Amino acid sequence: MSNKIKKIKRPWVFERKPFERTRTHADFDYNARKWRKLRAAQLTQFPFCKHCDQLNIITIATVADHIVPVKKGGAGYELSNLQSLCKKCHDKKSAKDK
Ligand SMILES: [Zn+2]
Repeated sequence: MSNKIKKIKRPWVFERKPFERTRTHADFDYNARKWRKLRAAQLTQFPFCKHCDQLNIITIATVADHIVPVKKGGAGYELSNLQSLCKKCHDKKSAKDK
């Protein structure tokens, strides 16, 4: 991993209004390289949906889900707070979390 990107200072960035969109996950950046790496690690380690597995269905997981949502104080970057889910199960869980 390169650290070069971090060293480039872009003072003009802070002069813009950075967030106009609604933020459902306060301060959690799902585009962060750190997150994408963690998500990939989770899905490599646990490639099948955990919820489907409990129903004895094998489904390829596509979502690394926070077991305790970040907005509820869950750790954002901890593998121990992640579970692999398929999109269907994740959507169901997200609906419940709200
Ligand atoms: Zn599932």
